[in-house]
Amino acid sequence: MLEIYNSLTRQKEIFKPLHEGHVGMYVCGPTVYGDAHLGHARPAITFDVLYRYLQHLGYKVRYVRNITDVGHLEHDADEGEDKIAKKARLEQLEPMEVVQYYTNRYHRDMAALNVLPPSIEPHASGHIIEQIAFVQKILDKGYAYVSNGSVYMDVEKYAKDYPYGKLSGRNLNDIVTETRELDGQAEKKHSYDFALWKKASPEHIMHWPSPWSEGFPGWHMECSTMGTKYLGEQFDIHGGGLDLIFPHHEAEIAQSCAALGKESVHYWMHNNMITIAGKKMGKSYNNFITLEQFFAGNHELLSKPFGPMVIRFFILQAHYRSTVDFSSEALEAAEKGLQRLQEAYSRLLKLQPSAKTSVEIGEIRTCCQEAMDDDLNTPFVIAALFDSAKAINIVHDGKGTISEADLNELRDVWKTYAIDILGLRLEEQGAGDEKLKAFSGAIDLLLGIRLQAKQNKDWGTSDKIRNELTALGFQIKDTKDGFEWSI
Ligand code: ZN
Repeated sequence: MLEIYNSLTRQKEIFKPLHEGHVGMYVCGPTVYGDAHLGHARPAITFDVLYRYLQHLGYKVRYVRNITDVGHLEHDADEGEDKIAKKARLEQLEPMEVVQYYTNRYHRDMAALNVLPPSIEPHASGHIIEQIAFVQKILDKGYAYVSNGSVYMDVEKYAKDYPYGKLSGRNLNDIVTETRELDGQAEKKHSYDFALWKKASPEHIMHWPSPWSEGFPGWHMECSTMGTKYLGEQFDIHGGGLDLIFPHHEAEIAQSCAALGKESVHYWMHNNMITIAGKKMGKSYNNFITLEQFFAGNHELLSKPFGPMVIRFFILQAHYRSTVDFSSEALEAAEKGLQRLQEAYSRLLKLQPSAKTSVEIGEIRTCCQEAMDDDLNTPFVIAALFDSAKAINIVHDGKGTISEADLNELRDVWKTYAIDILGLRLEEQGAGDEKLKAFSGAIDLLLGIRLQAKQNKDWGTSDKIRNELTALGFQIKDTKDGFEWSI
């Protein structure tokens, strides 16, 4: 029986869906104003494994993962301009071009990580009418107020009728002291009131008409609205990163209770965060490494390129509720581990059966299943696979035998758990990684020769390499320490 940790009750609970055989699952998706980085990979992979496992258990799953594409001042209060609008202004694009560009790139990165597409991927900008209706419901119930064209949640009023702060374990006093959101303070009754609808300032280019003003919905509104639109007023699972618990998910709970008079979500699940060399990822540390940079190896914190399966394996080696500290050394270790699994799997596919089994294969299927049932304990599944890799290698080396039945069982367990549930591409990736490595190495070598030529003022050679690589579709950028390239 599947047990999952519910962040709301702070304990593991036996998973029981609201409707037999069906699971409704909502996960907060990306804000599309930049490339996906390691921080995006973790929730995507965590909930991809849950999605895959629920389907393996026989559930029909409706998985909704949204695209946040509406400007939200709350995201960037210090700069006073929403990030999509800012990007559009700087690059002279229509905001929806920015949204489409980064959505496409997000999809490309997710496909590389073997993250399955969700059943529905709604855009916040496509659900403005529904969001306005949701805000109106909260106003009608008396838990919100209009101020200067914006609508705010009346948190104090709400907190008299419902426990506000129960997901994050905060009370209103804690929230007052930690609220940093300066925007709109003068319009609000209390600093902890959050925007359901914001009147757009003149420089805010993404805005829509509403009964209150020309403006845009508050960030938390889209998930309440789209979650209930596609999964019903009550649904099973809501996931996201731990950093979303407050204010985002706390606000979602308040919005649902205020509008619908009940909680929408049965199980709240949160993946823990990734640190980079012990530090939080953040602008001030300049340590946001995009997935594309991982795949190409062009970031100063990376010793070399790392394939998408190495990233996926690295993330799954830790339990989703533990922190993961990224370093190039840790990724190199993950890469070696993945290669051992890949080698064992290709050996497994080639093994010849004997009359009986002499190696210890243990209860691998039970181990994997129990580990997954225990709140998605992927590191235990990986450990069980490594254990059986030992037996595979013994048979491969001719020091043991395996019967046909055991061989088929082993092949089926690896296919089910390593490939279908953990989503590791074990077959093709090994060779691909090697090719990618050789290819990247060759380009680096060429550009190194070009750098040398430039230093020697041999412009003919330097230009020839640049022009021909450019003609082949490479983008080459000179930097102060050398060069960067991409395709
Ligand atoms: Zn959300």
